[in-house]
Amino acid sequence: MTVTGGRGLEIGIGAHYRDVVSQRWPVIVAPQSEELLSSWLHRLAIANGVAPRDFARVLGPGSGPGSGLWTASLDLRLPAPVAACLLTHTGVSRQKLVAMSLKRSAWRPLLLPLRSRGRRGRSTWLQYCPCCLAEDAQPYFRRRWRLATWISCPDHGCGLRDRCRSCGSGIAASDQPDLAPQHLCVRCGFDLRRAPKVAVSTSARRLERCIDDICRLEAVTGRLTGTLTGNLGGSPLVQSLQRLPAIAGLAPTSPLSGLSTSARRRCFEQLARTPCTWLTAGDDGVVVHWRRLILAAGGTGALMGQLVKALERGRHLQASPSRSVPKADLPALLAAYLDLKVQPPRPDLRLHPLAARAGPSRAPDG
Ligand SMILES: [Zn+2]
Ligand SMILES: [Zn+2]
Repeated sequence: MTVTGGRGLEIGIGAHYRDVVSQRWPVIVAPQSEELLSSWLHRLAIANGVAPRDFARVLGPGSGPGSGLWTASLDLRLPAPVAACLLTHTGVSRQKLVAMSLKRSAWRPLLLPLRSRGRRGRSTWLQYCPCCLAEDAQPYFRRRWRLATWISCPDHGCGLRDRCRSCGSGIAASDQPDLAPQHLCVRCGFDLRRAPKVAVSTSARRLERCIDDICRLEAVTGRLTGTLTGNLGGSPLVQSLQRLPAIAGLAPTSPLSGLSTSARRRCFEQLARTPCTWLTAGDDGVVVHWRRLILAAGGTGALMGQLVKALERGRHLQASPSRSVPKADLPALLAAYLDLKVQPPRPDLRLHPLAARAGPSRAPDG
């Protein structure tokens, strides 16, 4: 539609034409479960016919140099103009965009450092499970693969990898100059899905699961980042986890996040053979109590199973068919934990066996 202005001809876009010509890019790519922002950006770029290395020019200023680990940097900071560009052109919600990035993650102190090439034994920035990639219809990288505390895949039971099996390079998918999917090594073209399985013992995987559950519990309460305790250098738990190589006696000077996946796996294997006294030390009785419960049960999943069984036993003892089945879930458990933090139980109840058996109920006042 044309509009004639007072000083000449002005041309505008009519409402109907604007409906036809959308601002959306041709192909919309839906984020997958627990997908990392940089992984989604890779899939978005090649789906729309742009090589990942050139996609920075599409995203505009603030997206980075377009070389090296530039999308991995966006995981951590995601500048407002880049976020606005993605919201406008992809139709993804702001909530999903924030969920994919690690900008506000409570887990930041445990992230692997951004480096794609590390000496043998040193960490790279991202891990992967070959079996997960092989099962994906659209192979993608998960957020948890950025964490130093993960060494295996909970779904497949095998060890994670952090390098190409063929050439030894770390993941560098954002450097891809062709329209190639991210499960192909940028340096040599090896298909990461073909890497053989790595064995991890059951005890090491159990320790890994307990550490993750304890971290999740303490992330909810703000203890993981140290914001609750005012410790800007990382919480005592994060500091203990970073010291694991020294505690295991394998690498006295390296933090956990500085080691390769295979070196961290050796630490977990070593630590799983001895009692976790390093995890149950501390002067906060409530926190220590919960950590002991999780370690004894082998994780919150098993702990919840035990609690539900105990509640069901109580129901049978009451022998009242009209009563509804009591239920317990993790959110309720965490809420009770928060209550305990706000209003600590009396010192004489903190580690009393009956208090432990009663679980997360609120301590009596006074
Ligand atoms: Zn897997
Ligand atoms: Zn390679």
